[in-house]
Amino acid sequence: MLKRLFKLLSSRATSAVQDGPLVLPRDQHNISRRDISPGALKIMRILRDGGYEAYLVGGGVRDLLLGGHPKDFDVGTNAKPEQIKRLFRSARIIGRRFQIVHVRMGRELIEVTTFRGHHNAERTDEGMLLRDNVYGDMESDAMRRDFTINALYYSLDGFTVHDYTGGLRDLKNRTLRIIGDPETRYKEDPVRMLRAVRFAAKLGFSIEPKTAEPIFEVGEMLRNIPPARLFEEVLKLFMNGSATATFQLLQEYQLLGHLFPGTDEVLQSGDLHAQGLIEATMTNTDKRIRASKPVTPAFIYAALLWPPVQIRERELAEQMPPNIAHNQAAQEVIGQQLAHTSIPKRFLIPMRDIWDLQHRLAKRHGQRAWRLMDHMRFRAAYDFVLMREASGEKLDGLGDWWTKFQAVDDEERQRMVNNLGREPGAGRNKRRRRRKPRRSDTTPGEQDS
Ligand code: ATP
Ligand code: MG
Repeated sequence: MLKRLFKLLSSRATSAVQDGPLVLPRDQHNISRRDISPGALKIMRILRDGGYEAYLVGGGVRDLLLGGHPKDFDVGTNAKPEQIKRLFRSARIIGRRFQIVHVRMGRELIEVTTFRGHHNAERTDEGMLLRDNVYGDMESDAMRRDFTINALYYSLDGFTVHDYTGGLRDLKNRTLRIIGDPETRYKEDPVRMLRAVRFAAKLGFSIEPKTAEPIFEVGEMLRNIPPARLFEEVLKLFMNGSATATFQLLQEYQLLGHLFPGTDEVLQSGDLHAQGLIEATMTNTDKRIRASKPVTPAFIYAALLWPPVQIRERELAEQMPPNIAHNQAAQEVIGQQLAHTSIPKRFLIPMRDIWDLQHRLAKRHGQRAWRLMDHMRFRAAYDFVLMREASGEKLDGLGDWWTKFQAVDDEERQRMVNNLGREPGAGRNKRRRRRKPRRSDTTPGEQDS
């Protein structure tokens, strides 16, 4: 089916912009109503019956044309927000800068947006759009969208696909191209730079050179984005199954420093453990998502911020006891981070737990190992140990020890604890450190070789 679409495209001049929209008829694309959610279809029908135009638009059309399964569907219409509200009892207008309407259909939540128009809207001195609520028609709406592949419209009248910006050609060539003048469009909304990286990574598309070029210059305008919005964007960057590729592109386009300045500084210094820890975490996150296992932003943030915490902690430990140094370092790094992305409490607390447990997991004497296993965050903290070891950090075989401890029966667990030898620093004199003797009965991997 995709082949047929692409054959059509190559057989025809696709300079959609000059000649009006390219309209693909039903038999020349692969979108079927069966792949569209019942809620979105119903909303489109109700809007049409109400005398309005309604199209499926955005990521839904893009992903369907690529043969994928969209995670949600957006509807574009010429009905104004108030008119949409009159048609749907469940409709709620949200957003100020960019008003959209959320319509609930059973369990589904569909975003319905009124066509945007051309305008000289309110902007800051730096060119950032303050509001984008001037309305227009489908064509002007297409021009206001971010990337050509996100500006394709699917209609229930004749089941056609409408392309005003060359999005079909770019889909075929696997190219991400911003609509209009790249620098202006990024300045209007700097988050578009993060979206560029996200779509390129997720779809495996290359960023067209002119679309890529201004990112290095304009990147710092991300500092003007409210931390709460950046937090949401960070989730989209790392929780969509392509975190590894996304992270690489964020570094390549020098955007990481505008999101996680502390982390970026450590990575820029060439710290290979830090780079390894974060890459291992991203790879692991992608794997878990592919296996439909849960992932939490707390873990991802724990990994991203751990390197700067470690560095600060080492500095502070020269002046104060280790646990106080850890707490203070954590607080300082979190404080800096909150100026860039917010971290809601429901993630902040588990992130701190994961960090605190890194120290505690090494202390396994007496009944501690059993108690630690009962800790709510044990599993995440243990996974974090594995990530640290995967990055090449030497932890005396701590990960293997815990892997085994969880797998064996109680008797064997007791033996493992007994075999740990004397707890380092258990005596009165904490300053006296003795080298751990090499012993033949050590658990494999436990020796720091
Ligand atoms: P996803 O698969 O992540 O949902 P999406 O393309 O659907 O991708 P949304 O954030 O759901 O992304 O936005 C829906 C559509 O709205 C986009 O496809 C794009 O056309 C438009 N859009 C979203 N954000 C912007 C923006 N910052 N600037 C311009 N257009 C945007
Ligand atoms: Mg979407």
